[in-house]
Amino acid sequence: MEKPLNKKIALVTGGSRGIGAAIVRRLAQEGAHVAFTYSSSEKAAKALAKEVGAYGNKAKAYPADAAAPKSLPRLVAKVLSDFGGLDILVNNAGIFMGGKIGEIRAADYERLMRVNVDAVFALTNAAVKVMKAGARIINISSVLGERACGPDMGVYNASKFAVTGFSRSWAKDLGAKGILVNAVQPGPINTELNPETGENADVQKSRTALGRFGRPEEVAAAVVFLAGPDAAYITGATLNVDGGWNA
Ligand code: NAD
Repeated sequence: MEKPLNKKIALVTGGSRGIGAAIVRRLAQEGAHVAFTYSSSEKAAKALAKEVGAYGNKAKAYPADAAAPKSLPRLVAKVLSDFGGLDILVNNAGIFMGGKIGEIRAADYERLMRVNVDAVFALTNAAVKVMKAGARIINISSVLGERACGPDMGVYNASKFAVTGFSRSWAKDLGAKGILVNAVQPGPINTELNPETGENADVQKSRTALGRFGRPEEVAAAVVFLAGPDAAYITGATLNVDGGWNA
């Protein structure tokens, strides 16, 4: 039986670890060719490309710093020349920063916005020029993309509100071209960014209905659903994968 994403060409940012790596694996298992970016962990990225390449599809890791958004249109051109198209874009790369307003360094604010917002804009702005009807854009936002869940998270909150906002607006912009855009809003997911043994882990667990952290694979499952044929009438949606955090 043909796999749901057979021969689709996907690009995932921040694919070498955490949620991004789980997305890369699932897309490849569902039949897609997968290009993904990494910032510093070249060894992990090369190992993952080799691992998923063994599923029988093409896989390639590209160094690309999301903190330098102007470089991202070149990445689209490289993927196009290596893979011959682009059907699925997953904007996953992101960083977290806490801090109280009044105490935040401008340089830290600017870096977070470059990675979490400017890079999503720059890459998508270049990608849509080459994407065709049927293509999918999936933006990894956060439960903090629709609510302020606690103090000292204003900068991250604002960045993820922007990601969710882009998704909804771009769904309206691109519907006529047949390109679907959705946001996935994870709750606490056990990754290096937010380990389930970390200092705020118990508070985060208690905010979910299920009383636990999610796994990267549980976010990847939502992404492959939104990338696949069963989601053909879903655009402009935000899918919470949060154990009931934002219920
Ligand atoms: P992670 O830190 O484990 O992985 C982040 C990925 O982004 C890595 O692959 C990293 O290389 C990449 N990245 C970071 N800075 C980069 C840069 N300058 N250039 C290129 N790539 C860069 O984090 P994660 O938990 O897997 O998070 C993935 C996404 O999910 C992020 O957008 C994050 O905001 C979002 N998210 C995570 C959680 C959570 O609890 N883990 C919750 C909600 C949303």
